[in-house]
Amino acid sequence: MTSSTDYSDTVTQLRDTVGRVCKDFPGEYWRAKDRERCYPTEFVQALTDLGLLAALIPEEFGGSGLPLSVGAEILKAIHEFGGNAGACHAQMYTMGTVLRHGSQAQKEQYLPQIASGELRLQAFGVTEPGAGTDTTSITTMAVREGERYIVNGQKVWTSRAEQSDLMVLLARTTPKDQVKKRTEGLSVFLVDMREAKKNGMTIKPIRTMINHSTNEVFFDNMPVPVANLIGEEGQGLRYILSGMNAERILIAAECIGDARWFIKKARDYACERKVFGRAIGQNQGIQFPIARAFAEMLSSNLLVDHAAARYEQGKPCGTEANLAKMMASEASWHAADMCVQTFGGFGVAEEYDVERKFREARLYQIAPISTNLILSFVAEHELGLPRSY
Ligand SMILES: Cc1cc2nc3c(=O)[nH]c(=O)nc-3n(C[C@H](O)[C@H](O)[C@H](O)COP(=O)(O)OP(=O)(O)OC[C@H]3O[C@@H](n4cnc5c(N)ncnc54)[C@H](O)[C@@H]3O)c2cc1C
Repeated sequence: MTSSTDYSDTVTQLRDTVGRVCKDFPGEYWRAKDRERCYPTEFVQALTDLGLLAALIPEEFGGSGLPLSVGAEILKAIHEFGGNAGACHAQMYTMGTVLRHGSQAQKEQYLPQIASGELRLQAFGVTEPGAGTDTTSITTMAVREGERYIVNGQKVWTSRAEQSDLMVLLARTTPKDQVKKRTEGLSVFLVDMREAKKNGMTIKPIRTMINHSTNEVFFDNMPVPVANLIGEEGQGLRYILSGMNAERILIAAECIGDARWFIKKARDYACERKVFGRAIGQNQGIQFPIARAFAEMLSSNLLVDHAAARYEQGKPCGTEANLAKMMASEASWHAADMCVQTFGGFGVAEEYDVERKFREARLYQIAPISTNLILSFVAEHELGLPRSY
């Protein structure tokens, strides 16, 4: 896919479609789900039925074959129009591991069913409690026994595990002390969770300050057929890393959508709310933070678009994707803070949705990668500073 094709009409149509879907799922819907920490099944189904989550799957496997930048526009629109794609964004991009590194047989077996929504591949088991960001220190082990691997260990923050049929799992196949480089000896598996839940996989939800359906996942002698190994044994970290730029760009797009939502909400309220006999938006103390949030959103959006364009052109984009995620997550957080302040007391009242979106916006400076690790990456790889860890 190259950026020479003009997708602007497609993006306009998709934004209209997403806008119509989001109208059917207003603030009351999200508030109720948030209160109960319930998965937004109906919203995800509506996006699935319209094929929006299959945007990036090539047409030969039943998807729309759209480039990353268009996927990013879908996610921007979902967040801009008041939805939250956190419940299902991984269905859009986790399949990339299978698409880029899976065998032809694996692609033919899984991708069409993922495209139709029949199979949900939205669980991504990488993070472990003992390793955190230091992925090469994970200890979940997959030991080969004949035609299967036996997996033992634990993951944490495995989001949407309860709402997935398949999980992309990273495990050690060679212990860290037996490999030449710590990046070796890790392998990726496509785990059929419907079987695994009956045979060694236990899922325990983690309650968080946001409604994110995230979990601890335990593996106790869980068998995985050798046919479900993705690519070559021992090369898994490379496969996982290759998907991370796309993920960062897409998450950054969600942050842009959030920032736009906060800016519109604040702008409308600032025009409407009268104190001391005039609209609060007439005060520069209210105007300027809204204008500043707009400036941050607009400039981060340029970076998101730039990172997506480089990704589509097959150019290196690690720095751009990481910085797009960092800048967009900060822009949305600053916009969230501005919005709460603009609303005054009503900024913390549930019925305006501002406090909920404020909580939701905070996540993206932590996950899928925290800001410090982005700065370390840029310091080392872009600026040639010594590695800090
Ligand atoms: C709601 C939620 C959903 C998630 N979903 C998934 C998922 O689906 N799948 C999955 O695999 N993971 C998931 N994650 C995990 C997420 O990717 C990690 O939380 C994130 O990468 C940060 O890792 P950590 O929480 O282990 O923090 P740690 O690695 O423990 O770090 C803690 C703090 O120390 C800082 N720090 C650590 N090392 C350094 C250093 N060398 N220099 C400077 N600062 C440092 C970090 O930046 C961070 O601020 C999710 C997390 C959350 C909260």
